[in-house]
Amino acid sequence: MEQLEYQEGRTELETLGEFALIDRLTEGFVRHNDTTALGVGDDCAVIGTGKTRTLVTTDTLVEGVGFDMTYTPLKHLGYKAAAISLADITAMNALPQQLLVSLAASNRFSVEAMDELYAGIRLCCDRYDVDLVGGDITTSRAGLMINTTALGQADADTLSYRSGAKLHDLICVSGDLGSAYCGLLVLEREKVTFQADPNFQPDLDGFDYVLERYLKPEPRTDIVRMLAEKGVVPTSMIDVSDGLASELLHICHRSGCGCEIYEERLPIDYQTTRVCSEMSKNMLPVSCALNGGEDYELLFTIDQKDYDKLKDERSITIIGHITEPGSPAIMVTPQNTAITLRAQGFKN
Ligand code: ADP
Ligand code: MG
Repeated sequence: MEQLEYQEGRTELETLGEFALIDRLTEGFVRHNDTTALGVGDDCAVIGTGKTRTLVTTDTLVEGVGFDMTYTPLKHLGYKAAAISLADITAMNALPQQLLVSLAASNRFSVEAMDELYAGIRLCCDRYDVDLVGGDITTSRAGLMINTTALGQADADTLSYRSGAKLHDLICVSGDLGSAYCGLLVLEREKVTFQADPNFQPDLDGFDYVLERYLKPEPRTDIVRMLAEKGVVPTSMIDVSDGLASELLHICHRSGCGCEIYEERLPIDYQTTRVCSEMSKNMLPVSCALNGGEDYELLFTIDQKDYDKLKDERSITIIGHITEPGSPAIMVTPQNTAITLRAQGFKN
């Protein structure tokens, strides 16, 4: 058997960051099959050589990292675990069709708890016409881990990649941004109060929208359908899992371009603004929109010729445009100051 070589010294994982680590780990792999149309680097891998392609994507949620059992009902968790993988299929401008679910659960969880988790997965599958086709189940020493793998099939000509944005394309986003992160802030605030006084009843009145956004995200299959109906294939696309700034930088990096977005154009719900002002003076709604993440909205670019087809579409907002290769990704403030976008992200 080949001997594995261990290098001297030790580098902590956090020194690299998620994306540099993925690049490093996947760098030495060569493609062995023509059927691998696209590998690492987009929201899904693309499989097949013909007109119809298969899309595949996987996500993992770990207790204490991706979710907190103190305030996450298992039914919501199941729904969310399915939804976030389905969102990656929509991020290729395609519709999800199949789902596999793998679990590692400790003996802290009962059969009834697993039933609840699967009730949520089933709800999501039924809502989005997706079939549960397999998975795996094992025990864990501590906590719960859920891995979801989603598949979809689509016409090769209708797929949108992160890499297709070009000069003067318009940048669009569905729904609103920053609300899921504000939902998390509300839950974290209530958790701290609850830990101090276990008799405390959480006051979640008036936060229903932001809480739902965090606990029960929805993949935007409606946007994929709307674009198909209007005959628009976005030049590039990604879903907003880590925050607008990070996703815009992915599109700019993969497409070799810059971008300019306008702060006053960012779609932000009034509940997001309210949560921010209640939390702290330093918490700005625009920061939540840029760096909050977990909104699972679609961020995409369209050719200017398609503007008329989408200009009256209320479910999307045009927030800016693509600029020349080599130019930075910037946000212009209402005072006309240009801020360079950075991939901060609030989550770990
Ligand atoms: P998303 O946020 O859309 O789920 P990620 O940021 O998780 O995407 O991943 C970016 C790309 O890196 C994807 O193409 C994904 O398949 C790939 N990737 C992530 N983790 C790994 C890994 N451990 N090994 C190989 N590829 C990975
Ligand atoms: Mg994605």
